[in-house]
Amino acid sequence: VHEIVDVVIVGARCAGAPLAMLLARTGRRVLVLERGRIGSDKISTLYIQPPGVAHLQAWGLLDAVRATGAPELRTVTYEMSGTRISGEARWPDSMPRAYAPRRTRLDPLLAEAAVAAGADLRERSGVTGLLQDGSGRVTGVRYTTAGADGRRKECTVQAHLVVGADGMRSTVAELVGAPTTVSDPTLTCAYYTFWHGLHAGFEMYEGETGWVSSVPTSDGLVLVSAYHPQEEFDRVRHAADASYRAGIAANSPGLAERMRGATQAAPLTGFGDQRNFFRQASGPGWVLVGDAGHHKDSLPARGIGDAFLQVQLLVHHLQNCDAGDDQDRALVAFGEDRDRLLTDSYRATLLVASAQSRPQRRALLATVAADPVLTQRYFDTVAGLAPVSELYTPDLLRGLVA
Ligand SMILES: Cc1cc2nc3c(=O)[nH]c(=O)nc-3n(C[C@H](O)[C@H](O)[C@H](O)COP(=O)(O)OP(=O)(O)OC[C@H]3O[C@@H](n4cnc5c(N)ncnc54)[C@H](O)[C@@H]3O)c2cc1C
Repeated sequence: VHEIVDVVIVGARCAGAPLAMLLARTGRRVLVLERGRIGSDKISTLYIQPPGVAHLQAWGLLDAVRATGAPELRTVTYEMSGTRISGEARWPDSMPRAYAPRRTRLDPLLAEAAVAAGADLRERSGVTGLLQDGSGRVTGVRYTTAGADGRRKECTVQAHLVVGADGMRSTVAELVGAPTTVSDPTLTCAYYTFWHGLHAGFEMYEGETGWVSSVPTSDGLVLVSAYHPQEEFDRVRHAADASYRAGIAANSPGLAERMRGATQAAPLTGFGDQRNFFRQASGPGWVLVGDAGHHKDSLPARGIGDAFLQVQLLVHHLQNCDAGDDQDRALVAFGEDRDRLLTDSYRATLLVASAQSRPQRRALLATVAADPVLTQRYFDTVAGLAPVSELYTPDLLRGLVA
């Protein structure tokens, strides 16, 4: 006999956990299956842009985020080839600022909120297959989990909707054969670790050979990352520590100087598979949310906020719809909205993460730094408060051509 629920969500991090929370709050029976353990770390440079934090606030989770000890991050500093701007986006008073909690704190608090809302969450439960009816509609999943005797056992669960919130290498996307609708080459590889005793704010640097950022997080630590062009991944990974230090020294010498008195608090973490794509968002009985449906280079730090945005969008589209055709139409509308809302920032990310467009960015920053109105627009755009198109005013374009 199959277990039967309304929604099965595969994955319990930034996409899966808040979706489970919101759907459980509407009275749906929600089962979340997570292959790993809640509380395990996740590769990330942690920075949640203000629109993402605004979702946490709307869901009643901002106090819990503050309780992780992550400081509010107001000022953004951006420096490139000697041009430096530092300031804040123009927030409405009601809008919270950025935070960068450790993922070992953020992800569990999202999972706890899902359980508190009534979702059933099972860790160490990995989805391995789908249940489908004669027409090919997805009607549930197969998964393995730890039995009472500690041995792995195979289970099945039926659901009106199967959600793949299972990250960039989504099992659900693979099992349903979700087509990739947009795809671009990988552009950067990322290395980071945590520093104790480092005096730094949220700072981003771009030099001749790569990108560096510092992000204050929980426990008085500062995460410092060095990004290199993807072509260098093979070289970099064989000398990761040396490349990390050389990247910081070359591209942000001032920060490198401040790091001299600081202590490295964790081993270096590296990632060389930052894919850029959109997948078809849904099909009969299934939908993808978060990195499973759309992934882009992490340089502009948008993945967490984009996952939250997709969650809110999906919940909006699922409101008041029945299972079956009605639900399929709602899922298609979700996918259209997702693409409409995220395509601009996807294109902007590809530009920011491409070493070839560095001269263009240098000219852009020089023009922006010389004009207070453009400087303000720049901060609004980086924070995600204003669309990228608003930055490219006639003044700016004239400055770039001159
Ligand atoms: C180097 C790097 C730096 C980043 N920095 C930032 C940043 O500063 N700011 C930002 O906003 N974003 C950043 N991101 C992106 C951000 O981490 C992701 O966008 C975000 O974690 C996506 O959440 P998700 O829930 O969609 O997927 P994930 O976080 O990948 O979670 C998916 C979950 O699904 C589970 N799962 C997978 N397969 C199965 C299965 N078969 N069965 C059950 N469970 C399964 C996994 O165990 C995992 O827990 C960064 C990413 C990288 C790689």
